[in-house]
Amino acid sequence: MESGLETVCRICGLDVGEVRFDEHGLALFVICGCCGTESGVGDDTVAQARLLRDRWLDAQAVWFDPGTRPAEWELQGQLHKIPSRWR
Ligand SMILES: [Zn+2]
Repeated sequence: MESGLETVCRICGLDVGEVRFDEHGLALFVICGCCGTESGVGDDTVAQARLLRDRWLDAQAVWFDPGTRPAEWELQGQLHKIPSRWR
């Protein structure tokens, strides 16, 4: 993260190395394979991120793209990867 690029999903913490926000904080509109959130769409503020996260968790944290879900995937471990400023 030293470059300022954001690769971690603000909603669910998934990080597959894909840049979601560039070094200027501009969204690249990447759709998260886990929670289905598109970077830059409703995740601009912490309040919005929390709302989307709560909705996703309430809906059983279903993967948007189940085919990309790692066999050893673990929800709590991934949630811990959400940057503190987005929790
Ligand atoms: Zn996500």
